[in-house]
Amino acid sequence: MAEFTMELNEEQKEVRDWLHGFAADVIRPAAAEWDEREETPWPVIQEAAKVGIYSLDFYAQQYFDSTGLGIPMAMEELFWGDAGIALSIVGTGLAAVGVLANGTEEQIGTWIPQMYGDQNDVKVAAFCSSEPDAGSDVASMRTRAVYDEAKDEWVINGTKTWATNGGIANVHVVVAVVDPELGSKGHASFIVPPGTPGLSQGQKFKKHGIRASHTAEVILDDVRVPGSCLLGGKEKLDERLARAREKAKKGVGVPPAGGWGRVKNAAMATFEASRPAVGAMAVGTARAAYEVALDYATTREQFGRPIIDNQGVAFQLADMRTQIDAARLLVWRASWMAINGKPFTAAEGSMSKLFASETAKKVTAQAIQILGGNGYTREYPVERMHRDAAIYTIFEGTSEIQRLVIARTLSGMPIR
Ligand SMILES: Cc1cc2nc3c(=O)[nH]c(=O)nc-3n(C[C@H](O)[C@H](O)[C@H](O)COP(=O)(O)OP(=O)(O)OC[C@H]3O[C@@H](n4cnc5c(N)ncnc54)[C@H](O)[C@@H]3O)c2cc1C
Repeated sequence: MAEFTMELNEEQKEVRDWLHGFAADVIRPAAAEWDEREETPWPVIQEAAKVGIYSLDFYAQQYFDSTGLGIPMAMEELFWGDAGIALSIVGTGLAAVGVLANGTEEQIGTWIPQMYGDQNDVKVAAFCSSEPDAGSDVASMRTRAVYDEAKDEWVINGTKTWATNGGIANVHVVVAVVDPELGSKGHASFIVPPGTPGLSQGQKFKKHGIRASHTAEVILDDVRVPGSCLLGGKEKLDERLARAREKAKKGVGVPPAGGWGRVKNAAMATFEASRPAVGAMAVGTARAAYEVALDYATTREQFGRPIIDNQGVAFQLADMRTQIDAARLLVWRASWMAINGKPFTAAEGSMSKLFASETAKKVTAQAIQILGGNGYTREYPVERMHRDAAIYTIFEGTSEIQRLVIARTLSGMPIR
C-alpha cells in the first residue's frame, strides 16, 4: 500500500496538467456553442481521440492507478472544462465499464474497440438501464430478454429511457429481466451490436443542462442478439440464477420486509464504487464556477472598491472553496478505499457523491449571485454551470437515494 500523502505524485501531476490544458484550450472555448446547439460535439470528441483522451487505454490507465486518484482527477479536470462536453467524452466509458465488469475476455476484446471506433471515425456507446417506470426503483424494470434456444439468440423487448448516447451509439449495453421472479437478481446485461434491427431511438430529451450530451429513449422491439452477446455467458448466468433461486427459497437474497437494511447485492456494491467518479465531475463544475466568481469579485468594483472587499461576498467565496475542498477529500477517500479493496462500511461512495453534487448545485448558484446581473446571462459561463450542476443530484442515484443508502448502511434499519 502506498505511503499516506495528500499530494499527487509527479506522474499524476503531469496527467492532470495535460488534461487541464485540453479542458482549457479545447473544451471550455467550445462549451457555449454546443450548449446552444444541444448536439453531441463530435469534433471535440474526435480531438480528444487524437490526443488519446477518448480511448479505453486512457481510462484503463487512470482506473488502475494504485492510489485510486486517476479517475477522480481526470473527471474533475474534464468537467472543469465543461460538463456537457465532458459527459460526451466519458459517456462511452460508462458503457465500457459495464462490459469490463461483467463480460468475458472475448466480449471485452470484441466490443470495447467498437464502442470507441478509431481516431478518424469515432463512435460512442450507451448504457441503458433506466426505464420510464424504473428509475430509482431498478427492481421494477420491465424490459424482458427471452432465450430462443433453437437459434441460440436472445429476444429483447422494452423501452429504455434517459440513455446517454441512446440511439446514436454504435454499441448499446442493455440491462434486461431474464427471470422476473428474482427482482434485481434476475437481471442480465446484453450487447446490442451496431445496426441490429429492432433497436431505435425514441424521444431525444431537451434538457435543462449538460445539453451537449445526447440523452434519449431507446426502443427495443423484438431485438434479436446472438447468445454470445449475453455479458458473462449463459453458463455463468444459469449458475447465478440457480444460486439466487436457492437463496430465495431460503428467504436469503430477496429484500426482507421493509427493505434491504445492511443486506447488499453486487449491483449496489458496483454503484457504490462508481459514485465517487460522479462526485469528481461535480467537484470539477463547482471549482469552475468558484474560479469565475473569485476572479469577478476581485475585479468588479462597486462603491469605489472591489466587491470582494465586502465580507458579504468574501465569506461566500470562503465557504464555496471550503465546501469544494471538502467534497474533493470525500471523493478521494472513497476512490482510495475502492482501489484498495476497503469495504464501504459507512457508504463512503454515496457520501462522496451526495456531498459533492449538493455542493456543486449550491456553489454554482452562489457564483451567479456574485456575478449579479452578468451571472444571470449567457455572456458568462456560471449560469450554464448552474444548469449543468443540477444533474449531479439526479443521475447515478438521486441525493435522496444516496441518503437512503447511507442511512441504511449506518443503522442497519429498513429505512424507507
Ligand atoms: C441527463 C441524464 C442522463 C442519464 N443517463 C443515464 C444513462 O446513461 N443510463 C441510464 O440507465 N440512466 C440514465 N439516467 C437516468 C437516471 O439515473 C435516473 O433519472 C435516476 O436514477 C432517477 O430516476 P427517475 O428519473 O426515474 O426518478 P424517480 O426514481 O422517479 O425519482 C423522483 C424523485 O423521487 C425521489 N425518490 C424516489 N424514491 C425515493 C425513496 N425511496 N426515498 C426518497 N425519495 C425517493 C427521488 O430522489 C427523486 O427526487 C440519466 C438521467 C438523466 C436526467
